[in-house]
Amino acid sequence: MTKALITGGAGFIGSHLAEKLLEKGDEVTVIDDLSTGSFQNIAHLEGHARFRYVIDTILNENAMADLVGECDKVYHLAAAVGVEYVIDNILKSLQINIRGTEIVLEQANVGKKKVILFSTSEVYGKSNALPFKEDQDRLMGPTIIHRWGYAVTKALDEILALAYHREKKLPVVIVRCFNTCGPRQTGQYGMVLPRFVRQALLGHPVMVYGDGKQTRCFTSVFDVVDAVIALGEEEKAVGSIFNIGSDHEISIHDLAKRVIELSGSSSEIEFLPYEKAYEEGFEDMRRRVPDLSRIHDTIGYEPKVDLDSLISSVIHYFKK
Ligand code: UDP
Repeated sequence: MTKALITGGAGFIGSHLAEKLLEKGDEVTVIDDLSTGSFQNIAHLEGHARFRYVIDTILNENAMADLVGECDKVYHLAAAVGVEYVIDNILKSLQINIRGTEIVLEQANVGKKKVILFSTSEVYGKSNALPFKEDQDRLMGPTIIHRWGYAVTKALDEILALAYHREKKLPVVIVRCFNTCGPRQTGQYGMVLPRFVRQALLGHPVMVYGDGKQTRCFTSVFDVVDAVIALGEEEKAVGSIFNIGSDHEISIHDLAKRVIELSGSSSEIEFLPYEKAYEEGFEDMRRRVPDLSRIHDTIGYEPKVDLDSLISSVIHYFKK
């Protein structure tokens, strides 16, 4: 039986991962400081014989030494999430992403525990070289724009993990998630799909930022969790970086229309300039599409949940 530690396990993705690992028969420990995660996400797992949780920060080195020491594998998700959250809490975000990951890797290295590090498509920045391949150049904007500070810390996390792998033979697998959505994701930290669904269900205007022609590819959390578990079990994946996502591209304006239609809402769409939505000088990427060949070749990954089903699952969750 594998003993898994999930940092950030009370978060949106972490809690789905905990559930899936328990189904698989693993023993699961979650550490979460509930800064953006929520106890509600794991409340239904309380009492499960193979589940336990610790409410603490990964910056607590003593707690991390114990927890990492007791596990076989670490899924490291504890990090700042959401463009809006990062802009509003930039210092805390940088600290958790830099020092937090350093502590996870230091402790994992003590007993050579495998680390599955959650990174993000933000590391590609505003590159126009689509679709994004794991080893291509990245394009960052100026340091005074907080979004890029966040992207740099996630890239630094990857670089640190790769250095531990190379010099210390620490088994690491890095995943770059592309716009992951699904039940339990909150719109509170900026994510577009839960926000649109909430606005549509309340009959409020659906607020599209910028001209709405920017595109994204939305992935179901269930596809992400299955892929992460498979990569964590695949020997060939060690020491590599993998995009996880869908390559079905949609503009944010079209997403708004689809959400309104599928939720049977009478909401109107309104456009809000970026500087009003975020901060002066905010920069967005026009398109973001992953190249999925590496993950496909390594574990046969294909996204299974289509966009309409994904939107419907979020609508269903918000109605409940
Ligand atoms: N967005 C929007 N309305 C919102 C929240 C976000 O139009 O209420 C836009 C945002 O500007 C971006 C896209 O939707 O172009 C995706 O935003 P999100 O924060 O979900 O993820 P990102 O891809 O920016 O990390």
